[in-house]
Amino acid sequence: MLQRLGRWLRAAGHDTLIESDGRDDYSLLKQAQEEQRLLITRDRGLKKFRHADGNVVLLECKGLEDCVADLSHQLDINWLYKPFSRCMVCNTPLTDTSEAQKQRLPEDQKGEQAGESYYCPGCEKVYWSGSHVRHMRDRLTDWQQRYATSTQSRPSADGGPVV
Ligand SMILES: [Zn+2]
Repeated sequence: MLQRLGRWLRAAGHDTLIESDGRDDYSLLKQAQEEQRLLITRDRGLKKFRHADGNVVLLECKGLEDCVADLSHQLDINWLYKPFSRCMVCNTPLTDTSEAQKQRLPEDQKGEQAGESYYCPGCEKVYWSGSHVRHMRDRLTDWQQRYATSTQSRPSADGGPVV
């Protein structure tokens, strides 16, 4: 439901699990509590569980920008926590690329002209700092300037959100 928002939280560097729709509410909440994650949802039903309040962040938003604003008003999200340190597809922390992995980069990202590149050990995706990443960083910076009151915080003390 909030999968796009979840990928942007990963882009900002937050440990974010993204669940597909249809998973049963109780198991979702149980996992969030066990892993000390926040559960970010638009599903009002999740508030009905006893003890859910501390873990559930209920958003009422449509579209990405609206959800970013809603979430930022409820939690002190640092949108520049550790940008591009996690895989946006699978949430695994990225590593530097080896020489073999660099061979998979596009031609204009190889050799002397190459910028920084990163590798995901989880899904084997290779990332590089192209214009797409610059645009995303600009957007994260914009959100941080607009909404953040602190640059020190994380969504929760011990883990990131489950979406
Ligand atoms: Zn990955």
